[in-house]
Amino acid sequence: MAEFQRIINSITKRANKSTDRGNVAAYIPELACVSNQKFGIHLLDIKKSNFSAGDVDEQFSIQSISKVITLAMAMGLIGEQVWQRVDVEPSGDPFNHLSLLEQENGIPRNPLINAGALVIADILVSQLKNPKDEFLDYIKKLADDETISFNPKVAKSEKITGFRNYAAANLLKSYGNLKNDVEVVLDFYFHQCSLEFNCKQLCNTFYFLINRGECQRGNTFLTISQVKRINSLMLTCGFYDEAGEFAFRVGLPGKSGVGGGIVALLPNEYCVATWSPGLNKKGNSALGMMALEHLTTETGLSIF
Ligand code: GLU
Repeated sequence: MAEFQRIINSITKRANKSTDRGNVAAYIPELACVSNQKFGIHLLDIKKSNFSAGDVDEQFSIQSISKVITLAMAMGLIGEQVWQRVDVEPSGDPFNHLSLLEQENGIPRNPLINAGALVIADILVSQLKNPKDEFLDYIKKLADDETISFNPKVAKSEKITGFRNYAAANLLKSYGNLKNDVEVVLDFYFHQCSLEFNCKQLCNTFYFLINRGECQRGNTFLTISQVKRINSLMLTCGFYDEAGEFAFRVGLPGKSGVGGGIVALLPNEYCVATWSPGLNKKGNSALGMMALEHLTTETGLSIF
């Protein structure tokens, strides 16, 4: 256990010295204001011991990491029916590409790219009476944390510049794979992306994926088989068109977001979250990738 803390401390030292920090996402104006000098890492093991270093108390915009949580909620509500509307193959394309969607008749490649996440958002809008409130309640229960909230400023900022997401939603609608109003689905999607977490809250939320579907309080959210599906999708589709590189260097299922967060996990062992807002060319946190590569190399704990 002390080993985790020692390794995390040395990773943080290395990160703080690094000059290869990438660039903060600028296409969502609110995200462009964050400094790329930040770095935080938190690890929660299966026995609920916590280890952290760096800027771990600061909250950041989780962006695409939210796609895993909406998927979990949708699977809990309609089970295997999800797969009638979204596929489970890596796209090999950036998160916001539209060409495959057209070629494949409006069935998104997977639920972790934007088009797929919009279909999942549409499922939740259909299933829930008050989608945003009920989704927030779901996360609060999952994380056992009442303080988690949306950031309306970030949601608004993304709405103003969300041209590609509008295009994706309209394309899905034209193929009949979006049942609700485009504006309503996008409003839900921009809010889910605007959720703010710190690294520890992210680990608390994702604990159920290392613990066979049970959160820290012992409530069951998904079956073991559903957890397997989500973790496998994170491994093959969780890092835009760099999922192969992440598996190669880190060897864990995980999900990144353009806010600079990454959450990754080893089932039955640990869940880890990093935050550093500077992104590499593929849109993944530059220092987060470096940190997680060191973590699995130095602990010898990856799925491989
Ligand atoms: N809200 C962002 C978008 O749709 C999410 C991107 C991401 O984190 O991958 O562009």
